[in-house]
Amino acid sequence: MALPQNILIIGGGVFGLSTALSLSKRHPKSQVTIVESSPTIPNPHGSSVDTSRIVRADYANAAYSKLAAAAIERWRNTDWGREGRYTQNGLLLVYPPQSMSAEKYARKSYANVRKIEGDNVQFLPSQKDVLSVVPAYGKELDVAGGYVNWGSGWSDAAAAVAYAKSLLDAEGKVGFLTGDVQRILYEDVNGKSKARGVMLADGRSIEADLVVVAGGAWSSKLVDLRGRAVATGQAIGYMRISDEEQRELENLPTILNFETGIFIIPPRHNLLKIARHAFGYRNPTAVPVPGGEQGRTMEVSLPENGAPVPAEGLDAFRVALKQLLPRFVDREFVDTRVCWYTDTPKGDFIVSYHPEHEGLFLATGGSGHAFKFFPVLGDKVVDAMEGTLDPELSEMWTWSASAASTGEDFDGDGSRSGERRANLKDELAKTKKATRSSVL
Ligand SMILES: Cc1cc2nc3c(=O)[nH]c(=O)nc-3n(C[C@H](O)[C@H](O)[C@H](O)COP(=O)(O)OP(=O)(O)OC[C@H]3O[C@@H](n4cnc5c(N)ncnc54)[C@H](O)[C@@H]3O)c2cc1C
Repeated sequence: MALPQNILIIGGGVFGLSTALSLSKRHPKSQVTIVESSPTIPNPHGSSVDTSRIVRADYANAAYSKLAAAAIERWRNTDWGREGRYTQNGLLLVYPPQSMSAEKYARKSYANVRKIEGDNVQFLPSQKDVLSVVPAYGKELDVAGGYVNWGSGWSDAAAAVAYAKSLLDAEGKVGFLTGDVQRILYEDVNGKSKARGVMLADGRSIEADLVVVAGGAWSSKLVDLRGRAVATGQAIGYMRISDEEQRELENLPTILNFETGIFIIPPRHNLLKIARHAFGYRNPTAVPVPGGEQGRTMEVSLPENGAPVPAEGLDAFRVALKQLLPRFVDREFVDTRVCWYTDTPKGDFIVSYHPEHEGLFLATGGSGHAFKFFPVLGDKVVDAMEGTLDPELSEMWTWSASAASTGEDFDGDGSRSGERRANLKDELAKTKKATRSSVL
């Protein structure tokens, strides 16, 4: 199917860059432009940019396992994974004693990934078996069992984004603009609304035949995604470790505790990263209703750039370290960051035309797991634009007829833990108060 001449992509993260790469190959006659508010790509505040992201086919949903296997093939065997962008160190999924839900998810995921990776995957039915693959974690490791998949790995996320950008720069076909899109512009065509471009915060407008919203956790400022996607802040902490500790830990598998959502990726450059895959923090913000009457506002959660992790999150890290790597319990965090997921009700992406506005396409809803698909995601997005996406993915990713009836209390894919709807600013205020009273 032919695509329009002028295509404007909002956002230079995994969704935007992979879509641009695929469009430039498959639709060379289209003029594609990426508009990105960050002056640099990689954007240090973007969800796609960090020291590391897990690359795994370990899913309870077989459709994602299959897609991840195709992506992993590229990470392993093409330039995507070269120059340190991909390391195959394995992934160890553990569940603690008495957690039926975590054990259930682990068993389902094990069965899926075993079909793909065969003997690369071993079930570890006891703490002793788990310890046999990560002796450096020490005898205090408090888990009931799990499995290890030696076919999984991790990617240097910032380096992979820079690589994708360098491919586009080398081709020279896709244009880049720095600008903050304030709103999408619409026109009436035969009684139907059609996107005709965007208005930037500095007053410039850009015309386009097709507008692609790939704005990650900021997307709900541009399109009304209430009941469909919500920005949730996830905690990350970094600790400085010695050369000796680096050597000891760097080749271990990534460890992920399904009960708490806490994971530790093997360190690089003497930095140990610990993070939490949870329901996350909300940051309610009033914004104009996109496309609505002047003056009408709505409240949505939006990212807060540069926010540190509140005390509640750091405490959770210390509890997890006590369980997984007790010798680091008292080590200071040299940096912390709240990184933003774009969560959808079932954890499925939104890769779809908007049913009410012609010329408007969404490529977002990463739900904390889209990074690994970077090498293959753009092709799927362009398949969806052309109307040729595999029915299995299309069913999961198409704009659903109704928004979630539970408001924004999304369950995701069943892999989340922690408090629902924790408010970031309230947690930061509690942290500030506690710090003040401990000083007085
Ligand atoms: C802490 C954390 C851990 C994760 N771990 C993993 C993992 O282990 N494995 C995995 O596969 N995935 C993981 N993910 C998920 C994955 O990183 C994301 O799903 C993916 O990177 C989302 O990409 P994106 O393009 O939607 O968003 P982003 O990378 O955030 O890109 C969106 C871009 O759009 C720009 N933008 C937004 N609005 C505007 C506007 N109005 N005007 C101009 N520009 C705009 C933003 O500046 C931003 O650069 C993790 C995510 C986080 C936050």
